[in-house]
Amino acid sequence: MPPPRVIAPFHGEHNHRKCLDQAMQRAEAACLQQGVRLTELRRQVLSLVWENHSPTRAYDILARLKEKGRRPAPPTAYRALEFLRSAGLVHRIESLNAYVGCADPMVGHSSQFFICDRCDAVAEVHDTGVTEHLTRNAERLGLHTARHTVEIHGICTRCYHNDQT
Ligand SMILES: [Zn+2]
Ligand SMILES: [Zn+2]
Ligand SMILES: [Zn+2]
Repeated sequence: MPPPRVIAPFHGEHNHRKCLDQAMQRAEAACLQQGVRLTELRRQVLSLVWENHSPTRAYDILARLKEKGRRPAPPTAYRALEFLRSAGLVHRIESLNAYVGCADPMVGHSSQFFICDRCDAVAEVHDTGVTEHLTRNAERLGLHTARHTVEIHGICTRCYHNDQT
């Protein structure tokens, strides 16, 4: 079994421009590989999700698109978001009804998400051991697993230390 892979750690201070550039490059490559098109609107929605490492809600994306002078009908924007999700470019954080960008969309994966409730940062780990363990349990119970969601909430180290000082 491959070791757990950290797809996105909790970021401290960092140059986010690099994350954004890399995410857009990888999104292009992933779309090329899948034979799907990253249209202008899809690209714009993706870059809005990637403005930071916190989950973004669909209505925030609509509001930001309006600020930028684009006024797509809400269903159009939601469809763009759904496209990004199905292409693996963003993940939906179910417990927050919001989306985060995936830093490694080339590899299909069902990840585990770690969420800081203080600063909203989200870290992503791909641990096939967790997935297999859960699938085995589901089988034991008689459930044919379609999808699974693992979201762990807490306080990240940075916020924890800020609390102490
Ligand atoms: Zn970043
Ligand atoms: Zn991912
Ligand atoms: Zn935090």
